[in-house]
Amino acid sequence: MQTTLHHWVAGARVEGTSGRTSEVTDPATGEVTAQLPLASADEAAAVIAAAKAAFPGWRDTSLAKRTQILFRFRELLNARASELAALITAEHGKVLSDAAGEVARGQEVVEFACGIAHLLKGSATENASTGVDVHSVRQPLGVVGIISPFNFPAMVPMWFFPIAIATGNTVVLKPSEKVPSSALWIAELWSEAGLPDGVFNVLNGDKTAVDALLTSPDVKSISFVGSTPIARHVYETGTAHGKRVQALGGAKNHMVVLPDADLDLAADQAVNAGFGSAGERCMAVSALVAVGDIADTLVSRIADRARALRTGDGRRSCDMGPLVTRAAQERVSGYIDAGESEGAVVVVDGRRGEFDADGSGFFVGPTLLDHVGTDMTVYTDEIFGPVLSVVRVETYTEAVELINSNPYGNGTAIFTNDGGAARRFQNEVEVGMIGINVPVPVPMAYYSFGGWKNSLFGDTHAHGTEGVHFFTRGKVVTTRWLDPSHAGVNLGFPTNA
Ligand code: NAD
Repeated sequence: MQTTLHHWVAGARVEGTSGRTSEVTDPATGEVTAQLPLASADEAAAVIAAAKAAFPGWRDTSLAKRTQILFRFRELLNARASELAALITAEHGKVLSDAAGEVARGQEVVEFACGIAHLLKGSATENASTGVDVHSVRQPLGVVGIISPFNFPAMVPMWFFPIAIATGNTVVLKPSEKVPSSALWIAELWSEAGLPDGVFNVLNGDKTAVDALLTSPDVKSISFVGSTPIARHVYETGTAHGKRVQALGGAKNHMVVLPDADLDLAADQAVNAGFGSAGERCMAVSALVAVGDIADTLVSRIADRARALRTGDGRRSCDMGPLVTRAAQERVSGYIDAGESEGAVVVVDGRRGEFDADGSGFFVGPTLLDHVGTDMTVYTDEIFGPVLSVVRVETYTEAVELINSNPYGNGTAIFTNDGGAARRFQNEVEVGMIGINVPVPVPMAYYSFGGWKNSLFGDTHAHGTEGVHFFTRGKVVTTRWLDPSHAGVNLGFPTNA
């Protein structure tokens, strides 16, 4: 049965009026499950106006009251996390356990934001000059825009909105049009938690909605996550319109395996990181760099594990679900075809296989390519599917050169038992998030998430103290009440005494 979705504005469902819609599908069955309204520029302006109207009241709501609402939101989310996980699986396709993991990692940011009173403390200096005191505060920005990708319908928005709301901003979230229901569900949960109307709004749409957020003078910042070309557009357009922007882009993550590594551990983790969420993670391992003479053994152990995975409907306890759309399935299969014709050896072929699902879902099974060259498109492009490419190199130095010459710098991992090599690696590799014997090194909520180079435009990473900084502006107040030093008119530059 198909439903018609809506926007969420000032605490209520609002039907779309643009006449433009897009289809939401269940990737495991291929069925169209909903029609999503795509906002016009006027509808986007109305959502931004609702957030703007809510700002003065929310900005002046005490930290004690804001924190109580955050705690209520946390409790509701804990109690109902499985509902959200089910929604994610129904529109994204990832298996239920993976969807639950995504919700849990988002919840960690809510918990971090529950401590906002401590994080927002400014500093004070008594007697900076004689009889003069100075203190600093951080204040909210106003209306903030969040634009999220399809691959984490709940977690990625949750990297931003708990902190944005806790610091006193009002939010317009523009979710991916492929997976809109999680954002709408979260909006209703906020209402139930007692968040005032207009503090959290959901604007559904495509480029028209995004560009309205990027150009509106009433939107003060943009937090974007998605592919690199769109991240660049968002960064350039948003900053040209006077906003602060953090735009997280695509990735090509390498996992280096040194000859001394535990090869069973490395094989397990390569499979987890390469095929988890069908490779649709910005921290997925896509290139496995085998150093020295271990490649044959490692490839055969990965192949055994990959062949044992069960791919199918994410509601059926499978290991791996489908890709998000038919177009994604065709794009990923096309990359495997191209890799094969360019000379890569297809060790495990996900283009064919048995999938545990009804209907015609968007499946590609786990795929392992060996002898991949750095000029092949399977190596140069972000595939965003369950395709693990093995690149063979002779030395550690060659492995690091590969990573540092890559245009992306999101995540990377090294597997070794040599502490000295690991220490050197984390020091010299030009990537934002590093794992040492950890394949998917996603930072905790109290650290910040962000890549380097084409994986992030802007200078502030997501969540942690960088998130608090992003969603606030500093103000420094200099005060004199007692005035023993008042010396009448003096046009000289103030000096301290
Ligand atoms: P995408 O760039 O296609 O879409 C992201 C958002 O931008 C969506 O909300 C979409 O509606 C909007 N958008 C799409 N085209 C647009 C256009 N022309 N103009 C304005 N807005 C537009 O990304 P996706 O396919 O949804 O997500 C996958 C990508 O996101 C991958 O590249 C992945 O690596 C990346 N990603 C990065 C991180 C990170 O932390 N760096 C995290 C998750 C995903």
